[in-house]
Amino acid sequence: MKKVLSRKEFLTHIKGLKFREWRGIVLHHTSKPDYSLFAKKPDCAYWLKVIDRVHRVSRKFKGIGYHFVIFPNGLIGLGRDVSEVGAHVKGHNSKFLGVCLLGNFNKDEMKEDQYISLWFVLTSLVVRLGLLPEQIWFHRDFAATDCPGEKLKREQIRNAVRRHIEEMKEWMKG
Ligand SMILES: [Zn+2]
Repeated sequence: MKKVLSRKEFLTHIKGLKFREWRGIVLHHTSKPDYSLFAKKPDCAYWLKVIDRVHRVSRKFKGIGYHFVIFPNGLIGLGRDVSEVGAHVKGHNSKFLGVCLLGNFNKDEMKEDQYISLWFVLTSLVVRLGLLPEQIWFHRDFAATDCPGEKLKREQIRNAVRRHIEEMKEWMKG
């Protein structure tokens, strides 16, 4: 099965998926790899495997802890199955889907392609799961971390999702 999808493929993919009853979404960044590492090897499938391996080996997770990974070029990687609890926000994993941006947003300026995929993925999940933009959280809302990076503001992202909900409902009908 294809593991790295375009936005259009992602929309088709999530329509047919069986989800757990999620109470929200938590956003992360990889920190490492950052944009400079990705630029040296702009291969999404490769980095998806690296994250999976690191989570398995170093953290002893049963594979990648995030459900989705959004790459700097806007492509979307499929991580853990959405019917399964992830491993990304200690103490709250049973409640939240995990979405991770590749990059370090304490220093990287998010590329437009990645930003479009960010609101696209979050809005489509909000619509698909019947959530509200207020149910989108940052990792740092739950733990002593700066994840997903100081440059990202939660309200800005919730607003971007809010602006696209009606449009997304139309896209998802098609
Ligand atoms: Zn995080």
